This record gives sequence, structure tokens and C-alpha cells, in this order.
Amino acid sequence: MTLEPGMGDSTTLTGMRCPYCAAADTRVIDSRPAEDGREVRRRRVCPGCDHRFTTYERAQLPLLVGKRDGTTDPFELAKVRSGIERALGGREIAPGVIDDILERVEAAAHDAAPQVASEEIGRIVLDGLKQADEVAYLRFASVYKDFQAAQDFEKEMATLDD
Ligand SMILES: [Zn+2]
Repeated sequence: MTLEPGMGDSTTLTGMRCPYCAAADTRVIDSRPAEDGREVRRRRVCPGCDHRFTTYERAQLPLLVGKRDGTTDPFELAKVRSGIERALGGREIAPGVIDDILERVEAAAHDAAPQVASEEIGRIVLDGLKQADEVAYLRFASVYKDFQAAQDFEKEMATLDD
């Protein structure tokens, strides 16, 4: 029998490798909800070396980014970060700015689950950069693909005078 991640159908053998001796399987000896039910903690024992350890299971929402052309991509925060960094082209911005923006993007994506619009992500990034660094903001606005349409870009430029 092949066990794929998340496909285990046995209550005793789970396909979770022992972190101590690397035995291929371990047994669950206790399983209880934690974090107000958002997490399940399992106490496991290795039949090979008798070591005990704990695993934490959390729901992973399959978040998607909906693009303008109607297609979707898996939501990846790392992609958003590299998009911002690429657009900034090495321009130094205050430490923490990108992290703050990414936190807001992540929160918005989870609120919009299972799908967040790429324009929404772009808007949050622009918003965060506008407050932090005008040049970075303009660079991102001009590079970010959803703002390439001249009209969008002009609209963004116009709001700079606020
Ligand atoms: Zn072991």
C-alpha cells in the first residue's frame, strides 16, 4: 500500500517517519484538539526506537489568486515578495515595510478565501508602498503587470497628488 501525504487511512500506522531513527512509520497514541479546534496535536511513538514526539495538524486552505484573464494561480506569499523586490530593483526601503505589506496581503487573501483577485493584491502592495516610499511605489506601479494598462497607471499617478 502506498501512503501519500494526507491519504493515510489507517488509525494506527500513519506514514509519519520517526525523526529519531527514521523508521518508516510511527503510531499515534494520543490525539487532541488544540488552539480552539484549529489544530490537532498527535502524540506519536516509534515502534522501532520507542521515542515519542508530537505532530501538529492544521487546515491548509487551497488559496488561489484570480487573474484578470480568468485563470488562477496558487497563492504564494513568496511570489508576492519577489514581485515586490523585483519591481523595486534593489531600491532600499525601510526595514519591515515589505513584511507589513505581506502581512496585509496574507490577511486579505485569507478573508477572500478560497480566491483573492490579483488586482486586490496589487492594490494592497501599492497602498503600502505609497505610504512608505513614493519612488518604490511608482516603480511597482509601472512594473506590476496588472497595472501595465496605461489607464490604470495614470489613475495611480493621479492619486499621488492627494
Ligand atoms: Zn524511531
